[in-house]
Amino acid sequence: MSSRSDVVIIGAGISGLSAAYNLSKAGKTVQVIEARNRIGGRAWTDDSFGFPVELGCMAIHGYNEGNPALGYAKAFGLETKRLPASPGRLFTKDGLVDAALTEKLRTNLSSAMAHMNTVTSESSLSDTSVANVLLSPSSPLFTGLSESEKQNAVALARAAEIGWGIPLEEVSAYWSRWASGVAFAGSDGVIVGGYGKLVEAFRDKAEETGKASFTLNARVTKVIQTDDNEVQIHTSDGKIFCGRTALSTIPLGTMKSLPNDFFNPPLPAHKTSAVSRTAVGVLEKLGLLYDSLWWDSSAGPLTVLLETGTLLALPISSSPPCLHVLVPYGLAGLSADKIHDILSHAISPETTVPQPTKVVFSRWKDDELSLGATSSPVKAGDGRSPLDFAELARPVWDGVLGFAGEATELDHRGSVPGAILSGEREGRRVQALLDRKEIV
Ligand SMILES: Cc1cc2nc3c(=O)[nH]c(=O)nc-3n(C[C@H](O)[C@H](O)[C@H](O)COP(=O)(O)OP(=O)(O)OC[C@H]3O[C@@H](n4cnc5c(N)ncnc54)[C@H](O)[C@@H]3O)c2cc1C
Repeated sequence: MSSRSDVVIIGAGISGLSAAYNLSKAGKTVQVIEARNRIGGRAWTDDSFGFPVELGCMAIHGYNEGNPALGYAKAFGLETKRLPASPGRLFTKDGLVDAALTEKLRTNLSSAMAHMNTVTSESSLSDTSVANVLLSPSSPLFTGLSESEKQNAVALARAAEIGWGIPLEEVSAYWSRWASGVAFAGSDGVIVGGYGKLVEAFRDKAEETGKASFTLNARVTKVIQTDDNEVQIHTSDGKIFCGRTALSTIPLGTMKSLPNDFFNPPLPAHKTSAVSRTAVGVLEKLGLLYDSLWWDSSAGPLTVLLETGTLLALPISSSPPCLHVLVPYGLAGLSADKIHDILSHAISPETTVPQPTKVVFSRWKDDELSLGATSSPVKAGDGRSPLDFAELARPVWDGVLGFAGEATELDHRGSVPGAILSGEREGRRVQALLDRKEIV
């Protein structure tokens, strides 16, 4: 049995780190328990190529628009940079889409999105999917296009599935408009050296307070409310941690698979129902390292339009040449060799392209500590709404067990800022609760 902390935090992803940092800075004792042999969770920077390749989050979306990741990075003395805004080039599986058609496809997509937003603002279409509106035969998406060009327009619209993780056919048209209204957007940036730097800085600064400790390789197997309304946390290696309060940052995908007796007493039905009504999407990352450069390094992002989804290849280094590929759910089962074949045939159909010399890839969908990439937008039907995410955020057991993590942050779910803000939110709540308990 370990000593008793003010707060035990399950999970050392960005939400757990943000809570641990803020609580320890406020003078509370914090014990963080992480199942993996590393901190960061879905922030995972791979350095095996000799430079950072992000297998989880990469971009600071809304770099100039208030993303809190930038604020913490600056406060911790990390170097950051804004990325150039470049829409890049479009390809079909057989080669480059010419500039005039590229422009037309992008203009049509903007008009179709604006049209969908107008339609959904005028009438509540929470049971109608994005596909029903955006891909309907009368959609502005298809204005002035031939039959074959229309297929490219559909494929370009499916680029939204990279972030959403589920098909357009499943996303509620009404709530997609609502959610996109507040997300950090506009300019993009990155942390030089990768998100791993931010993750380490959060841990180091928390440890510097002398109030926070981290235990790795310890998977939580049971969370129990004690008779005196505190929390006991059991781990796979037989240890028991005690907390006056506890925060779970277990990802939504993993929450869906927990045994019924994981929480004792069991979570209330309104919480478990919200867990099953919300969805987790698929997005995998692939790093392909080459001996020689075979794409135009000035082209910016390379988007390949396919029937089953859209591949986005970001040239992140020219020397040595490296492509960082975002693989959406429709293509996530493909091998690295197959993805290389698709990219090389589409981007450089006339030449023989070298095979990659090294490959790194993620497996978020099958990773039992995430079981998916991030929470997805509200699905169409069954009366679902963003209130399901608000329900995920609600504490139980008179407030002593709280929930943080990207899926619990209504306005910014699915992102690093969502994870950070959820950790701040629960940190503030738990701090106030502990302070009030001390007064009694
Ligand atoms: C491929 C991909 C690309 C992304 N790109 C971006 C991007 O560019 N920009 C952006 O803003 N966001 C992006 N995101 C989203 C962002 O990475 C996540 O929202 C954020 O990292 C989630 O943090 P979290 O703390 O909520 O969850 P996690 O990082 O998953 O942390 C939860 C932790 O809990 C641990 N855990 C789980 N179960 C247990 C248990 N039983 N016992 C102990 N520990 C446990 C896990 O191992 C994990 O470390 C991306 C995500 C993915 C997957």
